[in-house]
Amino acid sequence: MREFTYLRASNVAAALNTARADGGSRYLGGGTNLVDLMRENIETPDTLIDVSCLSSAITVDDDSRIMIGAAATNTAVAEHPLIRQHHPMLSRAILSGASGQIRNMATVGGNLLQRTRCLYFYDDAARCNKRLPGDGCDAVDGFNRMHAIFGATPSCVATHPSDMCVALAALDAVVHIKGYDGARTVPLVDFHRLPGESPDVETILADGELITAVELPPPPPRAIATYRKVRDRASYAFALVSVAALIQVEDGRIVSARLALGGVAHKPWRAHLAEQVLEGAPVNAATFGTAAAAAIADARALKDNEFKIELAKNTVFAVLTQLGDRT
Ligand SMILES: Cc1cc2nc3c(=O)[nH]c(=O)nc-3n(C[C@H](O)[C@H](O)[C@H](O)COP(=O)(O)OP(=O)(O)OC[C@H]3O[C@@H](n4cnc5c(N)ncnc54)[C@H](O)[C@@H]3O)c2cc1C
Ligand code: SF4
Repeated sequence: MREFTYLRASNVAAALNTARADGGSRYLGGGTNLVDLMRENIETPDTLIDVSCLSSAITVDDDSRIMIGAAATNTAVAEHPLIRQHHPMLSRAILSGASGQIRNMATVGGNLLQRTRCLYFYDDAARCNKRLPGDGCDAVDGFNRMHAIFGATPSCVATHPSDMCVALAALDAVVHIKGYDGARTVPLVDFHRLPGESPDVETILADGELITAVELPPPPPRAIATYRKVRDRASYAFALVSVAALIQVEDGRIVSARLALGGVAHKPWRAHLAEQVLEGAPVNAATFGTAAAAAIADARALKDNEFKIELAKNTVFAVLTQLGDRT
């Protein structure tokens, strides 16, 4: 591992100023992804700026909006009474990821910015546009069973590995960001980018910007939601396909629906077409079948991942059926 300087920022302003002064620095959350990448020499920062000074509080305001500080650990979020009561789907998603030890260290800010698990990204003998822009992508014609079925380009077919972000996408979460020029907010669904021709640019964050919090709006009244992850092993495996779904039902009809898929794209993938099918439709198998078909209408398979399209369709159908049975 390359030598680096470790600094602990005492507050947000200090973190931002240090990052501004040192263009080769990276913020450090729990280090569960960044330090691994440094060990592999994929990330080679001069300086690590420990941002444990960020808030780790989880609070609710008078409008029932929940604010989660960026330094809150994945475990703290999953176990928090506010999250368990109002957003059990988020707890479920987080608990389906990694291991207890990793979740105890991993932070909300770091989870949003964790990098792909594409094997070629980790292999410095392989060509990878994300590691080295303009290098090419060995996954396109390589072993791409785990890769994307939505939004991929010849530049990059990688997927975003987070479970938490898929739930956040379905919950209409908002990311709070601070930079040298002030603060801003961005919907989680617009935070991550599709690869286009520059897969090395993974989010809308500008240089030096910090994630300070994630905000959850209140769910629609009486909404029911769940998260299901399909993977090769029962634990310690990234999603082949995951589905976060939320429906609000009145008098046997779905009045609002939110559906997000994980393991299938360079970002958490909102299935807007399927949501349109669901909204206004009766709660029954025909509706869920049509919605599941709509969810995969834009899917495109690579050489080794045709199975993911059927898997995504079946998982959406199964999750909606499960929610329908609860209404
Ligand atoms: C063996 C293993 C299995 C895993 N399995 C899963 C899984 O099944 N599902 C899943 O979702 N995840 C899984 N993970 C990934 C894990 O969730 C991430 O490593 C973790 O969420 C990253 O959080 P962190 O705080 O440790 O980030 P770090 O490693 O500290 O940082 C990651 C990135 O975020 C940046 N960063 C951190 N905080 C901020 C901030 N506040 N503002 C701006 N930038 C910031 C860092 O600079 C870095 O670029 C697994 C990890 C491992 C090691
Ligand atoms: S899919 Fe993306 S991350 Fe994987 S090798 Fe290609 S460019 Fe790199």
